[in-house]
Amino acid sequence: MTKNEIKCVMCAGQTEEAKDIVITSTVQGREIIITGLTGTRCPGCGEQYVDAESSKKAIETANKFRKPAIIFKRKVTVSGGRRVIGIPEEIDRALGKKDNVDLWLEGDKIVAQVY
Ligand SMILES: [Zn+2]
Repeated sequence: MTKNEIKCVMCAGQTEEAKDIVITSTVQGREIIITGLTGTRCPGCGEQYVDAESSKKAIETANKFRKPAIIFKRKVTVSGGRRVIGIPEEIDRALGKKDNVDLWLEGDKIVAQVY
């Protein structure tokens, strides 16, 4: 079965290929709009069917807007005359072999980008 043979589940109309699907999703109370998705659309009722590749892309996009589930609390300690913060084991594991870090301040937050 090709994309174009998909029947609309709402009205049984013949769907047509679409490359401009826009979906909205709510992530932790924030509404996000994801554009440029592909799939099919029903010309009869306007129902949209996002294809597998685009639904994966939409999930990945939505996940970027998720706040971390766990916030680690650490005390700033002094080592060799410098103030240091230990990297929590869980975060260290997620870093894998990346060991370069760019740090900057955003208000009272220290933001770290690892690569
Ligand atoms: Zn329809």
